[in-house]
Parts: sequence; C-alpha cells; structure tokens
Amino acid sequence: MKTDFEEMSFYSFENCANSVIKPCNIEIRNAGIDKGIGIFACKDFEEDDVIFEEEPIVAAQFYWNEKYGYLSCHHCLRPLETTDENIKRLTNNENIVLPYPNLCPTDKTQHVYCDCGVGFCSASCKELSWEQYHKCLCLLRNPSVNKLLLAWSGFHYPPETCSIMIVLKMIAIIELSQNYDEAVSTFLQFQHNYVNEDENMLLKFLGTEYADNFRKIHSLLHEVLPCKFVKEFVTEDGLRKLFALIGRNGQGIGTSVYSEWVKKVEKLDLNTEERNKVDLFINTTYDAMNEHVGIFLNCEGSGLYRMQKSINHSCNPNATVAFPYSNSTLSLIASRHIAAGEEICISYLDTCNLDRSRHSRRTILRNHYLFDCQCEKCTEQEGDPDVTSEEESCGDDCVSEDEAMES
Ligand SMILES: [Zn+2]
Ligand SMILES: [Zn+2]
Ligand SMILES: [Zn+2]
Repeated sequence: MKTDFEEMSFYSFENCANSVIKPCNIEIRNAGIDKGIGIFACKDFEEDDVIFEEEPIVAAQFYWNEKYGYLSCHHCLRPLETTDENIKRLTNNENIVLPYPNLCPTDKTQHVYCDCGVGFCSASCKELSWEQYHKCLCLLRNPSVNKLLLAWSGFHYPPETCSIMIVLKMIAIIELSQNYDEAVSTFLQFQHNYVNEDENMLLKFLGTEYADNFRKIHSLLHEVLPCKFVKEFVTEDGLRKLFALIGRNGQGIGTSVYSEWVKKVEKLDLNTEERNKVDLFINTTYDAMNEHVGIFLNCEGSGLYRMQKSINHSCNPNATVAFPYSNSTLSLIASRHIAAGEEICISYLDTCNLDRSRHSRRTILRNHYLFDCQCEKCTEQEGDPDVTSEEESCGDDCVSEDEAMES
C-alpha cells in the first residue's frame, strides 16, 4: 500500500530537523469526513511495541521552566544536570546521596555552550541549532530577543503550555531556510481552518488582557526580527494563526534525568535486600520532590511533529506518546494489541479527564481541540444520563476549573 507520506515533499526539507527515525508500519490517510487525516496500522502491534519514532520539526523549552533552573539542551531538551544535581535541587536537600551514580545518563564532557550562554548536550545539537535558527536568535547577535522573552514572561505563567521561543525558532527556521517556499509549507500543513479558534488560543497563552498583550508581542516581534519574513506568519492575523497552530498541534515534551536513572536502576540485577533499599530511596526521593516542587519534576517544553499531528484522539486510546531517550525524540507506543487496519489513536486528555463522563470529556475536547468526539466509547455512552449540574455549568475554562477541583 502506498502511504501518503511517501508523496509528501516535506521529507526532503533539509534545513529543518530530521524525519522519521525508525521504519514505520503505518499509513496516514483520510479517517472519515468528521476526523480528517488519521494514522492506521499496516501490521499487528502488541502492547509496548514502538509504532514509530520521530524528531520534532521545531521544539523549545518553556520560559519559566528554564528560568527556574531546569537546565536542558537548547536544541533537543536533554537535561544538562547530573542525576545527583537534579535530586539535590528538586528535593532542596544538599545531603541526599545518590546510589549507583554510575547510572547517571548525563555526560558533561559532551556539553558545549554558545558564547551567549545557551547550553547544548552535544556539538551536533549546537551545530544544528546554529544552522537552523540560533544564527538569528543568538543574544550576542540579536540582544533584543531578550525584550520579547521578558514581555512573554509577564503574560504566560506556569503551568506553561506554550513558549515564545518556539514562535521565534519557527520564524528563524523559515528565514534561514535555503528553500523558503518549502519551509513555509512545512509549517502551513499544521494549520487548520476552524472559526474562532484563534481567540481561544490567545486567551490561553496571553491571559485575559490578551488583546493588548498580543499587540505588544506582535510589535516586539517585528523589532526583534526585522527580516523579510513570510507574510502569512508576521502580519497580526498571521501571528494569531501561528499561535493557533502551535496551540492545536504543539506536543508537550517532558525530560528528566532522574526518571532515566530510575529506569536504569529497575533493569539492574539486584538481590532482594539491595532492591528493597533502592526502591525505598526512589520512593522517598519522589515524595521529597513532590513536597518541594510539586508537579514540576521535568524539563518541559513543546514541539511540532510531522506524524504525531495526524494522530486522532479516542477516549479509549490504543497508543501513548513517550519520550524514552530523555530528549525531544517522540515515541508512539502501543498500549494494547492493535490489529492491522485499525486506526491508531492517543488520548488528548490526561488520565483524570479521561475517566470523567462523556459530557465532560466532550466539553473539554470541544473547548480545547474544537471537535466533537465520536469515538467508540463516546458513541457507546451516548444514552448515559451522565450530566451533573456541576458539569453542566462547565464553560470555556472547563479544564482549568476541573484541574482546580482535582488538585
Ligand atoms: Zn541536545
Ligand atoms: Zn548564542
Ligand atoms: Zn470520545
């Protein structure tokens, strides 16, 4: 069977990072009138099978995440701390002693820094970053980038969902591309045509004063990057669409040197006493981290992915997204048996929201992803009298209200 992406010219797009890493056994095609494009299995997958892996077209760490000391590679988001430094910082305990320190995945001898202070996990990340966008955005060459970052930091607070850096990187990638038209169309393929979605995303990213804040960001953007940029993205309307595009397609990325260390420890061949001892260490460390930093355990950011963007939502998903290498490389993992021909779906909702009633799920999906879920589970539950008065009152900010209730 011929796949759609064999025909997609963007795979030859050189100046943008990378394409698919592992051979894939999937097909990208139309999934029906309501759903648009979807991803389908071309062979059977078993639970925990890797369906595909890919690197982002563009990715960036969140502003406050970086400012609060979650140091990661400016290009691939790999943590730059050692496991020992990480647990000391996240537990606020200088005396904690990491067992099996040799399993720490961080190799500081490989780290390189730009003269502006930005850090990279390797020389190759530094080179890629320079070629693709940093040439335009390096603070030594373009100090006004800082103005834009500071303005952004005044509008968008943790828990963050977007970064102005991803906008800057996208525009710089286009600017520096040798094939301008192809670079533009690479990003334009992420665009959807939904009425009114732009305003929702601005509210989400820039707060209630979003109209003023948006004007500030827009004029600063022109000050920072006074280049020949594509009109589609840097007019007011274009920038609004760019935010909407990132809001709808941006995949959250989380990397942690500690969880990578934990995975390595789990694979060690230990006797019962040693195992119990290290398990106790892991649990008490997680508890201490939870007390000191709460949910903020990871280096966090977001990215745009060529294949991930085609994965539809289901309230009964058969796959999950993971970052197994502690960098921005995305892995799609089967969460149960998937038969050849079946559509592969993930959940856009977190576990808490996924367990909620059909009505709640559909309200959140409509407000944040602008579609009415028609998945099997929603169809089965169609007749359920599941509406409580509390849920009924859920409005536009349904998710934040829900999150407030959960916490
Ligand atoms: Zn890197
Ligand atoms: Zn630099
Ligand atoms: Zn559903």
